[in-house]
Amino acid sequence: MIDKRPAVIVRCADVADVVSSVDFARANDLELAVRGGGHSGPGLGSVDAGLVIDLSQLRDIRIDPDRRTVRVAGGCTLGELDRATHEFGLATPSGIMSTTGVGGLTLGGGTGHLSRHYGLTVDNLLRVDMVLADGAVVSASAGEHPDLFWAVRGGGGNFGVVTSFEFRLHPVDTVVGGPTFWPIERATDVLRWYRDFITSAPRELNGFFAFMTIPPAPMFPPELRGQKVCGIIWCYSGPTEHADAVFAPVRAFAAPTLDGIQPMPYPALQSSFDALVPAGLQWYWKADFFAELSDDAIAQHVAHGNEMPTPLSSMHLYPISGAVHDVAADETPWAFRQADFAQVIGGVDPDPANRALVTDWAKDYWADLHPHSAGGAYVNMMMDEGQDRIRAAYGANYDRLAAIKGEYDPGNLFHINQNIRPAMPAVHT
Ligand SMILES: Cc1cc2nc3c(=O)[nH]c(=O)nc-3n(C[C@H](O)[C@H](O)[C@H](O)COP(=O)(O)OP(=O)(O)OC[C@H]3O[C@@H](n4cnc5c(N)ncnc54)[C@H](O)[C@@H]3O)c2cc1C
Repeated sequence: MIDKRPAVIVRCADVADVVSSVDFARANDLELAVRGGGHSGPGLGSVDAGLVIDLSQLRDIRIDPDRRTVRVAGGCTLGELDRATHEFGLATPSGIMSTTGVGGLTLGGGTGHLSRHYGLTVDNLLRVDMVLADGAVVSASAGEHPDLFWAVRGGGGNFGVVTSFEFRLHPVDTVVGGPTFWPIERATDVLRWYRDFITSAPRELNGFFAFMTIPPAPMFPPELRGQKVCGIIWCYSGPTEHADAVFAPVRAFAAPTLDGIQPMPYPALQSSFDALVPAGLQWYWKADFFAELSDDAIAQHVAHGNEMPTPLSSMHLYPISGAVHDVAADETPWAFRQADFAQVIGGVDPDPANRALVTDWAKDYWADLHPHSAGGAYVNMMMDEGQDRIRAAYGANYDRLAAIKGEYDPGNLFHINQNIRPAMPAVHT
């Protein structure tokens, strides 16, 4: 779906290569894109006829188990990060698929299986090393360039190329997780039960709701394969001996068609979806935040969920309660802290001939849910949707982001992203 042809791709081996590439692009007026894990839906990790800084060679990971921190180079994937920290029985919150890049996910916020327990990925970010638009190399943290540090915790790749991230780690080793699926005919009941249950559940429990089609994979019973279902994918990261009690209300609500909840190493849960979504798919997604899930919104979900056009298309509702609510709306650019759900509707298929089919479904579904939403979306799950949507995503934080952009990238060199337009400082005479 993304078919961009850059003039040059620089496979940077170190920070000096990143500096040279930024300087070269600026000096030659080249369009400049930065590629981390390459998972951007609208293809913002590449650009036509310009220069791509490809960070995929930057893969160093260093763990300090005593301080419980990890430094991750800018080109790592979530799977590499999880595998390295798991050796120490530690983890930092990230996304639900191991092939996603640490870079783009973190810079946009980062939701996943540990969000309710330990917050967004950016809530665990301690420091970044960056190459700025003028080629300068800086570190940003609570104590150094605090304004820049605020901006990168959700403001995307707008402020420079991050060559290394430092995160706080938590004791996460074996989790109890996996899916429970119910027939799609039960969707109204499941959604009504889910909205009340998850918002008041202990924060060690995460569970995102999904409409999906059971894949033709050996771990699923043959009679379920190809069936549209509604489900919840769980992750309990508290003491495993408490898991049965925590999951008792789930099992008491209604016996699932399939109950896959079991103890597993955290990286196993993190990579359990990987095989379903190989690279190269047609992929169109639209997102919104929701403060509540009304019965009217649920009716729209049920109508569109039943119409999923292809086996890989889905709708996910990620809970962003628990620890995500501990952080104030203006503490990071991630403005919708008090919403309870981040919704993403994904029209997905391998066949380019189905591009319009999956796109139309996602757009129609979104249009009917949007009036029920909190107004803006998670930037990491948006397409190229224009300035109004970017402003809506950041809400009251947009103007501060624009002012910081004006200071660090006044020429908007870094604009192949969900772009924040630089605000120019007022000129006093
Ligand atoms: C299959 C799949 C699953 C996903 N699951 C989740 C999930 O569970 N939770 C979640 O929060 N999000 C999820 N996402 C969304 C994901 O966070 C975004 O697509 C994110 O932008 C991907 O980052 P990337 O580095 O892989 O992508 P890229 O396409 O390489 O980059 C995306 C953007 O980030 C910028 N960027 C990347 N790295 C850097 C860097 N080091 N310095 C400066 N700018 C940089 C790029 O310039 C670009 O604008 C998922 C996406 C996919 C496709």
